[in-house]
Amino acid sequence: MRVKRAKKNKKNMGIYAQIFGFREPYQLLLDGNFIHVNQQMKMDPWTALPKVLQGQVKLFTTTCVLSELRSLGADFNATVQTAKKLERRRCGHETPVGASECLKSVIGTDNKHKYGVASQDHTLRVHLRTVPGTPLLYVMNSVLLLEPPSAETQRRIKEIESEKMLPKQFEEKVIKKLNPDAKVAPEPTRTFKKKAKGPNPLSVKKKKPAQNGGQKKPATEGGEKVGEKRKRSEDE
Ligand SMILES: [Zn+2]
Repeated sequence: MRVKRAKKNKKNMGIYAQIFGFREPYQLLLDGNFIHVNQQMKMDPWTALPKVLQGQVKLFTTTCVLSELRSLGADFNATVQTAKKLERRRCGHETPVGASECLKSVIGTDNKHKYGVASQDHTLRVHLRTVPGTPLLYVMNSVLLLEPPSAETQRRIKEIESEKMLPKQFEEKVIKKLNPDAKVAPEPTRTFKKKAKGPNPLSVKKKKPAQNGGQKKPATEGGEKVGEKRKRSEDE
């Protein structure tokens, strides 16, 4: 079994960990076709998957997947035996449904239990790409691959990163919740007012020379000098 893009996979799993909260051992759901391809290639998923993901794994399947494999006849007997060695993830289907439908329901719309899915079912993988933060694996040309993060996953990553970049917006929301009156003044004005209130002692000092200047002649001369400078710059 060949491992490709090991470095890239490690980086991508790091993103799943950092952004979506994945932790080792990574939990992976395997579907029947994936287990069957492993069987045909004499590939051991307990050895191959940790190599590809560069981390420890815990492998699951569901009763529905097992039930579907059993219905496929004698050719799948060995695959059924391998599937039975996987841990069983409860799916809640009392009457078994198709493997694809079953895995979709376990992942749901947000993959809150942090599963990766290993499947040869292209349609299922296309669907799961719409669920942000769902690592997807499959075998192509005898190579086990981790799909790059889907467009929807990347969109969510950008969203989360931009939220981190703009703490002020978040803080503003909290401030508004705590103190609804704060809505009246926009943020820049508030900052300005605070600064204006702060240097009160300085403004008092400034007023004193201004009052003195009004009474004494030298200050008036200073004012004329400024006027002269302005005239010069206008001539140039
Ligand atoms: Zn099920």
